[in-house]
Amino acid sequence: MGAPDRAEVVRSLRELVGEGAVLAEPHELARYEQGWRYGQGKALAAVRPSRTEDVARVLAFASSQGIRVVPQGANTGLVGGSTPDASGEMLVLSLERLSRIVAIDAVDRSVTAEGGVLLSQLETALAEQGMMFPIDLGADPTVGGMIATNAAGTRVLRYGDIRQNLLGLEVVLADGTVLDLMTTLRKNNTGLDAKQVFVGTSGVFGIVTRAVLRVVPRPAQRATALVGAAEGASVLQLLSHLEQHLGDVLSAFEVVSAESLAPVFRYQPRLRNPFGASLPPYTVLVELSTTLPADRVSLDDLLETTLGAMIEGGAGEGITDVFPGKPAELWDIRHHVSESLRHEGEVLGLDISVPRSSMPSFVEAARDLIAPDYPFVRVCDFGHWGDGGVHLNLVWKKEDAPRPAPELKAELQPIIYDLAVTRFRGSFSAEHGIGPHNQAFYDRYTPALVKEVCGLLKARLDPKGRLGTTRLG
Ligand SMILES: Cc1cc2nc3c(=O)[nH]c(=O)nc-3n(C[C@H](O)[C@H](O)[C@H](O)COP(=O)(O)OP(=O)(O)OC[C@H]3O[C@@H](n4cnc5c(N)ncnc54)[C@H](O)[C@@H]3O)c2cc1C
Repeated sequence: MGAPDRAEVVRSLRELVGEGAVLAEPHELARYEQGWRYGQGKALAAVRPSRTEDVARVLAFASSQGIRVVPQGANTGLVGGSTPDASGEMLVLSLERLSRIVAIDAVDRSVTAEGGVLLSQLETALAEQGMMFPIDLGADPTVGGMIATNAAGTRVLRYGDIRQNLLGLEVVLADGTVLDLMTTLRKNNTGLDAKQVFVGTSGVFGIVTRAVLRVVPRPAQRATALVGAAEGASVLQLLSHLEQHLGDVLSAFEVVSAESLAPVFRYQPRLRNPFGASLPPYTVLVELSTTLPADRVSLDDLLETTLGAMIEGGAGEGITDVFPGKPAELWDIRHHVSESLRHEGEVLGLDISVPRSSMPSFVEAARDLIAPDYPFVRVCDFGHWGDGGVHLNLVWKKEDAPRPAPELKAELQPIIYDLAVTRFRGSFSAEHGIGPHNQAFYDRYTPALVKEVCGLLKARLDPKGRLGTTRLG
């Protein structure tokens, strides 16, 4: 089939889903063509259906015309998966108007929401009813986007990622078939858990139009502290101790190395630095939370006495400081790490996971590997050590580098991924799913049999290969 006739496509789509649902002017399309960090292309048009039936109509039409479709949520993905390629032949299917929260059920502890509902919308609606959706991250993605990337965030340690919080799903397949897997069941051992096929698979098997998500009671109180640690081993010791003594209420364990924390205080002078001039090698943000009110049990007291007893009892070797603080203020520090590192120069940000126990040795091995050939590169690590996630940032000043940044990034990325995947049995994609930006690494590290199974699924669910920007099979 030749290139689609744009005017004809736009006219047909408008007939199918209404005038206002289809955008075709360059100034209207610009924001659908550019990803947050990676991904830039040219769209044939953008279509914004507001009902599942309309998504089905659009896909059936696209399939009949041989038009490739890229599903797009809030476009906050970080692997270039949500934007069209440069051909000008891909249709962007934006879920932004499929944005209704259908039901909140306090007894089933679930929320039913359309694919384009934003995380912030969920947060507001659930807060009014004393509940919370447990995924917490620094962007405002959609339900469909979070499912397609298996989003995680800062509280995986306590609540898990999207995969573990998804109860039901409605997806529209490439030919317009609606697959109804909507349920609030928590127990259902009837063979294959089919909805999981659509989790973390970048929209290549179908478009998420509705989902049922697990929600949790909203904590009545939180307590947080910054804890300084002399080395990675002390951080792991702290994690084990807290899990053993406070496991039921531990909700986050975020770790920031001195190399990553220093820029925060350098570029965000409004944020208070409790450590003064000398930062500890590692700073841990510990968060406890519970639904019990503070007059029943005080988490501030619990955190303070537990850390105090740990240090006095000799189990806190390597713990250098403890600074309790208000949750909003301490999270503000944590949430400014990425942005502050960007002020330092060129940044190659890699989102990796390794077994929790390997975290210190992995970071040390990365430093040792990089130092001889790239002495101008600093390894700035931070992340969710509680669930084995590390944002390993390689940072350098442009003027110190012998070669242009894109060239260096292309050299450095595989060095670190190889270390993570082959030596530490980790993952090169801890959080952001698969897209054109990391396709080559998916191809390199994924077992052939897994790719073959994905190919078979694709052949059944999207035989003409019309959906998405990623190749899993
Ligand atoms: C500042 C910042 C902080 C972030 N922090 C985190 C973090 O802590 N943890 C984390 O996991 N991620 C994080 N992310 C990444 C991003 O927010 C997630 O990947 C998010 O889930 C993407 O959702 P989205 O709605 O923006 O999807 P998009 O970016 O629009 O799309 C992402 C992928 O999903 C597909 N897709 C989108 N909607 C659908 C749908 N309805 N059906 C099928 N496929 C679909 C797209 O085709 C694309 O492949 C962060 C991003 C930013 C910018």
